[in-house]
Amino acid sequence: KHAAKIRLDDVKEDQARDKDKADRATSEQVLDQRTRMILLQMINRGVMSEIHGAISTGKEANVYGAVAYPDLNGAAVQRAVKVYKTAILIFKDRERYITGEHRFKAGAEKGNNRKMVKLWAEKEFRNLRRIHGAGIACPEPIQLKLHVLVMEFLGDRRGYAYPRLRDATIEAEGGEELWKRLYTQLLGIMRRMYQVCRLVHADLSEYNILYNKQQLYIIDVSQSVEHDHPRSLEFLRMDIKNTGDFFRRQGVDTLSDRTIFDFIIA
Ligand code: ADP
Ligand code: MN
Repeated sequence: KHAAKIRLDDVKEDQARDKDKADRATSEQVLDQRTRMILLQMINRGVMSEIHGAISTGKEANVYGAVAYPDLNGAAVQRAVKVYKTAILIFKDRERYITGEHRFKAGAEKGNNRKMVKLWAEKEFRNLRRIHGAGIACPEPIQLKLHVLVMEFLGDRRGYAYPRLRDATIEAEGGEELWKRLYTQLLGIMRRMYQVCRLVHADLSEYNILYNKQQLYIIDVSQSVEHDHPRSLEFLRMDIKNTGDFFRRQGVDTLSDRTIFDFIIA
């Protein structure tokens, strides 16, 4: 995985030789020529200096670790780079989030994958900005270019990303008491996201929450919708159910989904 480090020279070399075509088509399919040019441009502009292997390879996007300039103490600044995939067939499924979004009326026409992924990346970038601006723990958005989004890296100095809540070792760290506190913390986040950001996450679960030192971080907000989206409350109920089910499985004595719904929207 970590062999996938990309440097300026590699990009140039690749342009000349176009090697490993078949290989890239499978494991690194998002790094097509266009994507490489964007990354190269970002490297040239100092947004980052090198890109490492994939932290995550998903259906819709790959997330890469990257290093930017050293900070004032001379330590490397980590970045996360989310590259949305253009050659996919999941746009139908995603349409329900875009349809009804007044922010994306123009340009959201069907049938143009490249335009659609650009919209998704843009949506995630704007949502992150709003969520981060409201003081909710999430990656700070840093740079956006077409379907490539650079954000703050949530992880340690060695380059290890914080675990997803699903993989976090909460039991060992604080047991039942900690689970309970995290549950309360999440309810506060969901309410603040609704009341202050006017957003519903719409894909909230233990997979899209990172955990470190008793703090939850919200990620993956490309599908998040405005509170006045025609299906926002339906999505909110889904978020409440998914997260509630998870915490119930951890033995937390949760409130009813109905009570939480009222708490969030009131
Ligand atoms: P997907 O659409 O593939 O689910 P996510 O935004 O959920 O995309 O990111 C996938 C994974 O990448 C996350 O589960 C997390 O492990 C990692 N990740 C995403 N963003 C960051 C970040 N800013 N810092 C560290 N790791 C991240
Ligand atoms: Mn995700």
